[in-house]
Amino acid sequence: MKKFLAMVLSFAMLAATGCTSSTSSAAGKYTAGTYSATAQGFGGDVTVTITVDANAITDVQIVGDSETPSVGGAALEELTEQVKANGAEIDGVSGATFTSDAVKAAAADALAQAEGTETAAAELNMADGTYTATAESYDEQYGLYTPGEMTMTVEIADNKITSITVDPYTDTDIIGGMAFPILADEVVEAQSLAVDSVSGATVSSGAFFTALKDCVAQAGGEDSVAALQAVEVAAAEPVTEEYTTDVLVIGAGMAGLSAALSAAQEGANVILVEKNLVYSSSTTRSVGYIIAGGTDFQESQGIEDTPEQFAEDLYNLYKEEETLDADLLKSMALGSKEVLEWVEHDGGVTFDSVIRKSAKGERATPRIHTTESGGYVTSCMVNAAVNAGVTMMMGTPAVSLIQAEDGTVTGAKCTNANGDDITINANGTIVCAGSYTNNEELFNELNPRINNIGYACGSGEGDAYNMFVEVGADIVNVEYTQFMYYAYGSTFTAMPEVIPNSPDTPEYSVLLVAGNAERVTAEDNFCFEFTKENWDLGYNEGYCIVDQEFMDTYPVLCEQVMTACIPGTDTLYGYSGETAAELAEAVGLDADTLTATVERYNELCDKGVDEDFGKEPEYMNKLEGTLYIIRMPQITTDGYTGARINENAQVVDTEGNVIPGLYAAGSCADGQVTSVNYYGCGTSLLTCATFGKRAGAHAAHLAD
Ligand SMILES: Cc1cc2nc3c(=O)[nH]c(=O)nc-3n(C[C@H](O)[C@H](O)[C@H](O)COP(=O)(O)OP(=O)(O)OC[C@H]3O[C@@H](n4cnc5c(N)ncnc54)[C@H](O)[C@@H]3O)c2cc1C
Repeated sequence: MKKFLAMVLSFAMLAATGCTSSTSSAAGKYTAGTYSATAQGFGGDVTVTITVDANAITDVQIVGDSETPSVGGAALEELTEQVKANGAEIDGVSGATFTSDAVKAAAADALAQAEGTETAAAELNMADGTYTATAESYDEQYGLYTPGEMTMTVEIADNKITSITVDPYTDTDIIGGMAFPILADEVVEAQSLAVDSVSGATVSSGAFFTALKDCVAQAGGEDSVAALQAVEVAAAEPVTEEYTTDVLVIGAGMAGLSAALSAAQEGANVILVEKNLVYSSSTTRSVGYIIAGGTDFQESQGIEDTPEQFAEDLYNLYKEEETLDADLLKSMALGSKEVLEWVEHDGGVTFDSVIRKSAKGERATPRIHTTESGGYVTSCMVNAAVNAGVTMMMGTPAVSLIQAEDGTVTGAKCTNANGDDITINANGTIVCAGSYTNNEELFNELNPRINNIGYACGSGEGDAYNMFVEVGADIVNVEYTQFMYYAYGSTFTAMPEVIPNSPDTPEYSVLLVAGNAERVTAEDNFCFEFTKENWDLGYNEGYCIVDQEFMDTYPVLCEQVMTACIPGTDTLYGYSGETAAELAEAVGLDADTLTATVERYNELCDKGVDEDFGKEPEYMNKLEGTLYIIRMPQITTDGYTGARINENAQVVDTEGNVIPGLYAAGSCADGQVTSVNYYGCGTSLLTCATFGKRAGAHAAHLAD
């Protein structure tokens, strides 16, 4: 990376301070005016601007755009009120320590300016030695974030940090594992704690700085921490660069890596630009399962299957979908054996087992090829692409596509954290920049019916969608996203032992009811069956009903659902009651209908046969004693609205004509081959690999 760091020693305690206006010198505690100061929060700068009259604070504004929205971002409002009431003497907000500390420090500095008592320079005075600290960091289960741990060792000599090593960690190798050395190099070079977080690795970066501050404090106390935080890190002047290549791939998830690998295998020069400095895509966060039918691996496990049978099963589940392109779906299923074996042999991915997620209907054949994790799949595909000659440009987001007057796409304009102006000219440009579920505004615009998302765990920010709109691509609008009903959210600190209606830790002996308070499917069916039925009825929240025996069996779940609120709301997940009617009242369902549903379910349990939906008798547990109802807000991974593509993964315009030079693959272009009745874990990665591979192979020969 060209970026170099220059440092400027500042003798103020905090970075970038400045008074914007001062209007009075009347005697009193303060000089009336507006004062601001900045300190480093979790993801970047937090700026506190305080307006005072002679004796009191009259207004407070806090800006911290880089704070994690659900943690520090959410805390800013509360912190603003605290500063208004108590100046810098604030309690902070629990769970948002970084942001709270930054607000406290910046408020103290702004008020010191107002009082005319600028904060004294902190002294850097670290004792030589080796220091170790442990911090809460990132871990994952089933592709979802859970708190983990990292340990750091710091060497200090002659009042300088000479080395930082991160020892054991639970972070993903290609997120935290990549971010730690980047941060270590920058800190050692700049001798500053004001180095920016690594994009795409916010939690890991936070852990890094927590542990580093701890080590510095051990060596030289809080004054040394403050002194190193005050060392500003200046970026280089932005430069202009231009590259020319055969194929440009935008985004390093499964689709982009497949596209890049396949183009390089066809002999093309390939540049892949990735927005983040680490591989923190949805693919990396995923469980890493890939579906295919009729593979050698299935055969080796004694499973009889064919691509044709897979195509038929997939079609049967998806056929009512309005946006379905049945030919594209069929060709994907028929080619799935070849694609999966390409991922295995050329991508270097080892499959561990082949499983199914449901014993029922079209999903009964084991076709889910499991791997170690999504991070593992990404690592393998990155290695394969690099070995095939692909040039990776990390931390280089594409900003817009370059379109000639005749409509041909000829590359993309890109940039980086330094603000460089980077032009990449290419014969073929393959957009694989993921989905949009992390862009709240776009999410609400594209999926207005979904208003109860508890947790968006996909990585997409909508860049691909915006690029498609700008060049006149036909947009396939899909009104739902990939979602499940999980009693799970970022407020939960640990994965409960079971998650009602999840693909990975299901407990079938529950009663699931839709928004109409009725049962709509067998609870031992794959979770997407319930998702679909509830969605089709027009609801976007589901409910799980259990009894005391269930809650006693799963105390972690019990504790969490009865005490945690759905993120961003003060609505609890769980409620108890002695009757079904009480439960209905708690969540706003129709009491008579829910009472009838519970009575009918119990009647079927007594009979031992689910005459209504065919749930297996072993899971028909009668609901007795105190009852509990658990709201199931949706957890979403990726949204499906994106570009329309043809069989070569070329993007087409609103008239059905190919936009020359432009391709798309992955979750930014899978609206034609998906369904609310999602086949099962692994279908998305198959889509990515299939159309990524096709796009790469086709684009590689554009100049032939
Ligand atoms: C928790 C979880 C578990 C899942 N489990 C599975 C599973 O087991 N099997 C399965 O099939 N599916 C699973 N999915 C869904 C699947 O992971 C995604 O649909 C799939 O990974 C999407 O891949 P992609 O390549 O299209 O996009 P992504 O993997 O999101 O990659 C897009 C990349 O583009 C980059 N990018 C974005 N904008 C730009 C830009 N302007 N310039 C350059 N780069 C950019 C992003 O940083 C990112 O690295 C899961 C998803 C989640 C979140």
